[in-house]
Amino acid sequence: MTDATHATPADSSGLIAGDLEKLWTGGEWLEGPVWVPATQSVWFSDIPNNRILAFDRTSGETQVHRNAVEYTNGRTLDLGGQVVQCSHGRRAVEREVGGQVEVLIDSWNGHRFNSPNDVVVASDGAIWFTDPPYGIQESGREGHPGEQEYGGCFVFRFDPASGELAAVITELVHPNGLALSPDERLLYVTDTGRTGDEGYICVYDVAGGLIAGEGRVFATPPGTTDGLRVDTAGRVWTSAGSAVQVLSADGELLLEIPVPEVVSNVCFGGPDGTELYLTASASLYRIRTTVTQAGRPVR
Ligand code: MG
Repeated sequence: MTDATHATPADSSGLIAGDLEKLWTGGEWLEGPVWVPATQSVWFSDIPNNRILAFDRTSGETQVHRNAVEYTNGRTLDLGGQVVQCSHGRRAVEREVGGQVEVLIDSWNGHRFNSPNDVVVASDGAIWFTDPPYGIQESGREGHPGEQEYGGCFVFRFDPASGELAAVITELVHPNGLALSPDERLLYVTDTGRTGDEGYICVYDVAGGLIAGEGRVFATPPGTTDGLRVDTAGRVWTSAGSAVQVLSADGELLLEIPVPEVVSNVCFGGPDGTELYLTASASLYRIRTTVTQAGRPVR
C-alpha cells in the first residue's frame, strides 16, 4: 500500500473535502471500480493482467480478488447488491455471486457482442451497457482477438425479468462509459472512438426504457473521457485525461481535480457514500467529497 497524497488546488465548489490519496499502485491498466457494501471494499479490474483486485477499506490493503477472470472491465451493483460486470473475454455481461460467475447475456440476434465495456443498472432492474471493440482487437492485450459480429458498436438495454434485449443507441463510434441522471430521464454516454484530443460525452432522453429522440453533445473535456458517474444533484463526475472533471447538469465545469495518471473510471463509495474512488492507469486513488452518487444507496 502507498499513502502518498497529492494536494488538490483550492476548491471553491465545496464539492471535495480533502486531498487526493493514492491507495495502491502496481496494476497495468485499471478500470471498472465499484463499491461493494457487503465487504466495505472497492473491486476493480486490472485488464491486461486479467485479474480483479479488491481494496479493503478497513485494512487499507489491496489484494487479488480473482485471477483468470476473462478480462473484466466495468461493473456496478444490481438491485440485490450483487456485482454485475462486463467481460471482454466472454464477450458478455455477467453477475458474480459468491465467487461464481453467471453469464447474463452474451449475444444479440445470434451475433456475439464485441466486448461489453461498462454497465449500469436502473431502478427497474434493467441493465444498460456499452459494447465497443477494445477487447477483441488484434493485440489481445485486453481480451481475445475476434470479429465484430453484428457490424457496429451499440448501447444495449437488457431486462433480466423479461429477457428482452434492445439495441438502444447505434450511432456512436465506440460507446464506453455510461450513467443515468437521478430521475433516470437522461442517459450520459462517452464515446472514445472520436478522433482528436477532446473527450466526448453525449446525453440522451430516456422514456419508458427507450431512448427518445436524438442525442446531444453534453461536453467535450480535454483528454479521454472513459467512465463517469452522476451525483444526487445531477452533477457529472467524469474522467478527463489526467484529471476528474465535475460538470453541472448544464455541462458547466464546476471543478477539476488533477491526477498524476490518466484516469479511466470513477465510483462513489465508503460507509457514507461520499468517497470518490478513481482507477487511473496503474493506480487506485480516493478523494473525499461532500456528495453521494445518484440512484440506489451504494453503502
Ligand atoms: Mg470504459
